[in-house]
Amino acid sequence: MPIVIITKNMIKSKPVLSLYLKLAIFGGVAIAASLVLPFSISIFYVATGVPCPACGMSRAFMRFFRGDLFGALFYHPLFFLIPLIPLLAYSRMPKKARNIGWLAIGCLFLAVWIIRLILFFPHTAPMIYNENSLFELLRRVLR
Ligand SMILES: [Zn+2]
Repeated sequence: MPIVIITKNMIKSKPVLSLYLKLAIFGGVAIAASLVLPFSISIFYVATGVPCPACGMSRAFMRFFRGDLFGALFYHPLFFLIPLIPLLAYSRMPKKARNIGWLAIGCLFLAVWIIRLILFFPHTAPMIYNENSLFELLRRVLR
């Protein structure tokens, strides 16, 4: 297995730190909101009732920070990719290579989302159907 060593010269460190800070703030707010609010913060989930490709990410990080790696992987198998985003965004790789990286991450999220929908939707958290979604409310009104 190849070992990738990221050196200081491979990334633009100032914008990377700034993006890490923004991700940490966003993640902290998302986790706090998911603990306090009685509804999901996922716009896709609230609108359609179907969990989005990122649903479960807050719970995955909460499990991870408690030292429960398997719980984290259960709630979102790709949670460990999030800390790599700033490195990819501000790497000194050629733009074409970075775009291939974004495409690979996007395809991976899509594939994992479809697999999680097949295996766990609508019965197992975090892939539970939202019976109070806007789609569901509209469906009940129009019936
Ligand atoms: Zn979501």
